[in-house]
Amino acid sequence: MSSAPLDILAIAAHRDDVEQTCGGTLLKSAQRGQRTGILDLTQGEMGTRGTAEDRAREAADAAKILGVGWRRALDIPDGRVENTWENRLKVAAVIRETRPRMVILPYWKGRHPDHYTCSVLGYEACFLAGLAKLDPAAALSSQQSELSKERTGGPFSPHRPFKIIYATLYYDVRPSFVVEISEQFEKKFASILAYKSQFCDQEAGKDLFPAQVEIRARVESMARYYGMLGGVAHAEPFLQKEVGLVEDLLAIPVKSI
Ligand SMILES: [Zn+2]
Repeated sequence: MSSAPLDILAIAAHRDDVEQTCGGTLLKSAQRGQRTGILDLTQGEMGTRGTAEDRAREAADAAKILGVGWRRALDIPDGRVENTWENRLKVAAVIRETRPRMVILPYWKGRHPDHYTCSVLGYEACFLAGLAKLDPAAALSSQQSELSKERTGGPFSPHRPFKIIYATLYYDVRPSFVVEISEQFEKKFASILAYKSQFCDQEAGKDLFPAQVEIRARVESMARYYGMLGGVAHAEPFLQKEVGLVEDLLAIPVKSI
């Protein structure tokens, strides 16, 4: 993997979250020649189906389908994503290493505590990464610092992303904008199915997991719903905290009437 700065880094709690919430958008960016990456905070060891090793292999397959050039999973415990100083440092070290212009975080409300905690943790890590006098690798415990240097070849200079947006697909909130993924939809769906241990029909966890045909129906109806809001076939929803800035009124998309 090359060490050139990323254009876009998507951060999520679990392997397969990014595929579901913004996989089509990442693929579309890659198709435009932008460098994309995914940081998963956990490795999936608490999953009902499959092991963390299964999920690592599946995550690599999904990244390939989405044209993502950089992907890593941190060692934060699955089901216990906490917004601690140590976890913020771990994410800040990755922000410095990958130097993204844009970071995509999960929306800050949701059913799963790992998801909404990841949102706040990610935001605060982006802030920390820009503090000139902070060295995240050195501030981590000595063992973790060794690990971090070994993996990253750091330390890296301060960096803050220019833009942070929130992927809202897991929560019923009106997005600020949607990204059309009509041409990317089939590959987005293929990247979700790359998690064979989770989504292929099987006995284990049958009562917890929907059947594959049901998954297709859900993923597609969400994409079509957000597509409809934007006047296109399929889309993914995002929220930004800032207002939109317009140069030319006549270039604003989406029909009003
Ligand atoms: Zn998740």
